[in-house]
Amino acid sequence: MIFYSTNGQAPAATLEKAVVKGLAEDKGLYMPERIKALPQEFFDNIENLSFQEIAYTVADAFFGEDVPADDLKAIVYDTLAFDCPCVKVTDTIYSLELFHGPTLAFKDVGARFMARLLQYFLKKEGKGQVNVLVATSGDTGSAVANGFLGVDGIHVYVLYPKGKVSPIQECQFTTLGGNITAVEVDGVFDDCQALVKNAFMDADLNAHMQLTSANSINVARFLPQSFYYFYAYAQMKKLGLADELVVCVPSGNFGNICSALFGKKMGLPIKRFIAANNANDIFYNYLQTGKYEPRPSVQTIANAMDVGDPSNFARIYDLYGKSHAAICADISGATYTDAQIAETIKEVKSQTGYVCDPHGACGYRALQEGLVSGEVGVFLETAHPAKFKDTVDSILSESIEIPAKLQAFMKGVKQSVPMSKDFADFKQYLLAQ
Ligand SMILES: *Cc1c(COP(=O)(O)O)cnc(C)c1O
Repeated sequence: MIFYSTNGQAPAATLEKAVVKGLAEDKGLYMPERIKALPQEFFDNIENLSFQEIAYTVADAFFGEDVPADDLKAIVYDTLAFDCPCVKVTDTIYSLELFHGPTLAFKDVGARFMARLLQYFLKKEGKGQVNVLVATSGDTGSAVANGFLGVDGIHVYVLYPKGKVSPIQECQFTTLGGNITAVEVDGVFDDCQALVKNAFMDADLNAHMQLTSANSINVARFLPQSFYYFYAYAQMKKLGLADELVVCVPSGNFGNICSALFGKKMGLPIKRFIAANNANDIFYNYLQTGKYEPRPSVQTIANAMDVGDPSNFARIYDLYGKSHAAICADISGATYTDAQIAETIKEVKSQTGYVCDPHGACGYRALQEGLVSGEVGVFLETAHPAKFKDTVDSILSESIEIPAKLQAFMKGVKQSVPMSKDFADFKQYLLAQ
């Protein structure tokens, strides 16, 4: 499969180049040149297939031309050793719980798939070590670190802002050791992001080491997230509730919803999508006005969605032929303040017993306000509420339980490299590696 850049100024790339490089030379995002429709028999029979079987069929459409069937199957099956149940919250609203993977967040699937695919290419080509740089405000770092842990030939540097990620999140990437190095930056998330961006552009560093990115600009990280939507459809179909299915995605960088829109282009019969935002409402405003106006992000209690210039907007815009009307035909928006998110967490708990995390709460509320008669909604519960324990506890005035998987991380010993926010220091550190 050939991949082109959304900016149209870079040469077309192979899958391997797109995965190893991450971003195109013109700073555009790679897009597959074709999106294959899946056969009707697949959808007719989808409710009888396992998550792994469904995912392999979807993966084959994107990666099957470049990766032999046995290798691709091994990558998919190794990535998905867990299920994601659709849990009934009300008669018309279901929660697709994406927190049953190793770090209890939906980014696990993309991170692990990308690690395995990169490993496949490195083995095939006998290439030297690849270094993954990732800036995180919490969730991306833990998913990427755990996805790449123990993978030969790849070293991961996770840059995070000192004192600004929750203790639970911090221990998920600072206690691993091995090929994972946590870099604790004396600054804010934007400083971490700037260090990573500067590193990718620095000629000395690129001559010294092979660098790549593992955030959702990478095709190998965002495309596998489409597996979730096919699986959700299958589960709802099994319940006889898939005829007018509306899927609501709490969105930040829009990688997750973008993968769902690829699914729709492949024939997945989801009626429409809702992108739920926190107070960072750039996409919401785009839907209302047709103008895309990025702004610096504001801090909210749904912090994994604190994004002021969603990177995957470029992919969505391209996917719909740059047509605002076409985008609006498939996607509507919603935006909620911290007060509304807190109110929703409280209400859902008292009315149904279900505990939402702050991101999922945006998704629930958008369905509650947006579903019309006959529609059934699924929102993505993108992280386990215990990952945001302080916030959720104080809203509910109770202490929610921490799952055993998370507790295990908290027993580890924190190791990190202290770093200033000055690029010269970070460069010197990497050159010494
Ligand atoms: C990353 C993340 C999101 C946003 O996903 P995007 O693909 O960036 O839109 C939402 N919720 C949680 C918990 C996340 O970690």
